[in-house]
Amino acid sequence: MVNHKSIAAFARACEYMPGGVNSPVRAFGGVDLKPLFIAGAKGSRVFDIDGNEYIDYVGSWGPMILGHTHPAVVAAIEKATAQGTSFGAPTLAETELASRIVRAFGSMEKLRLLSSGTEAVMTAIRLARAYTGRDMIVKMAGCYHGHSDSLLVVAGSGLAERGTAASLGVPEALAGLTVVVPYNDLEMLGQVFVRQPGDIAAVLVEPVAANMGVVPPEPGYLEGLRRLCDENGALLIFDEVISGFRVAFGGAQERYGVPADLTCLGKIVGGGLPLAVCGGRAEIMDLLAPLGHVYQAGTLSGNPLATAAANTTLETLEADGGSERVYAQLESTAADLEAGLTRAAADAGVPITINRVGSIMSCFFAGKPVRNFADVRATDVAAFKRFFARMLEGGVYLAPSAYEAMFVSLAHTKDDIEQTVEAARESFRGL
Ligand SMILES: *Cc1c(COP(=O)(O)O)cnc(C)c1O
Repeated sequence: MVNHKSIAAFARACEYMPGGVNSPVRAFGGVDLKPLFIAGAKGSRVFDIDGNEYIDYVGSWGPMILGHTHPAVVAAIEKATAQGTSFGAPTLAETELASRIVRAFGSMEKLRLLSSGTEAVMTAIRLARAYTGRDMIVKMAGCYHGHSDSLLVVAGSGLAERGTAASLGVPEALAGLTVVVPYNDLEMLGQVFVRQPGDIAAVLVEPVAANMGVVPPEPGYLEGLRRLCDENGALLIFDEVISGFRVAFGGAQERYGVPADLTCLGKIVGGGLPLAVCGGRAEIMDLLAPLGHVYQAGTLSGNPLATAAANTTLETLEADGGSERVYAQLESTAADLEAGLTRAAADAGVPITINRVGSIMSCFFAGKPVRNFADVRATDVAAFKRFFARMLEGGVYLAPSAYEAMFVSLAHTKDDIEQTVEAARESFRGL
């Protein structure tokens, strides 16, 4: 693989941007390599500026469920562009999008459109604090909810105690309002409610964890979260920024049948443009300004280009009057990939554990089940780094971190999967 141009481009980018990138994981630090600079993409493929082509399993970290440069989405963006790129005033397309989303998510009665997942979760937390009149929130170790102050928090010294800042610049006073407990652990969450009765505004969770690699909820986990929140007067916030329109059209809450009080969406919902959603029960959402006294605003919220891409993406996922066919195809493509990788690793004698929910999956280098962040951290990251580099050489672009998911799209063909499995077969050998 020749990548002279990417290497030179990265050196130049580093002169002007911290670390040469505008979002940290893109710098390839997680795999001890230099990033590829991307020139373009089509369907399941991305092309770098040196002219190399890769089968893409990053999919912009989730949004590109239809594949890159989907003709209908491109046409919708072009049409919207010609009519004006931003007005700062209401448009019909926003109401159309809102009604589509409310139809898809049974627990959502009203919603607000925003520009990033970070903003969506920040808003959900502010609403939960206002609605309950409480300050503390609970999050799960290894779940990611964007970069707002309250959520860049790791567990404190004691279990189920106040958290501590995970980033410089986050005041400890604020971090202390967030409690971090392990994912898939109802007992620990129960202890938090016992210790802090009446203090917890909300429990925030990725219902299918996908930012520590993919870690599915164990049977009864989401139901248990729902019950503990109800018993203790706390709101349940599902951060479905990845799982929304991914593990089912109506997200994890459709797939597992557990409703949330507030739901955050991003990634797929924007169809590759900056758009996100915070929505939920009307009595909570109506606390937002201008109706209520919870302030939130955005110059580019409901932006016409993003809204057009969003409407067209959701419309395409629901083509044929239902989403069953589309999600069945995603399931079958991803299941083929899982089976192929499993066989290739077994043939090479490499112990792996694949966690998969629909079209998101992770191939952990571990010989035992991976059910929380501690398990993820115990996997063989050095093996992943070697695997990543070999797969890249073999024309497969995985997320450049052992802690990220693989995203399968509707554009991935049987040939793509076979080629990927072939590359994996080579890459596992002697790993
Ligand atoms: C990506 C992500 C976010 C943050 O979204 P941004 O648009 O990057 O701000 C929040 N929550 C989850 C679960 C995510 O995967």
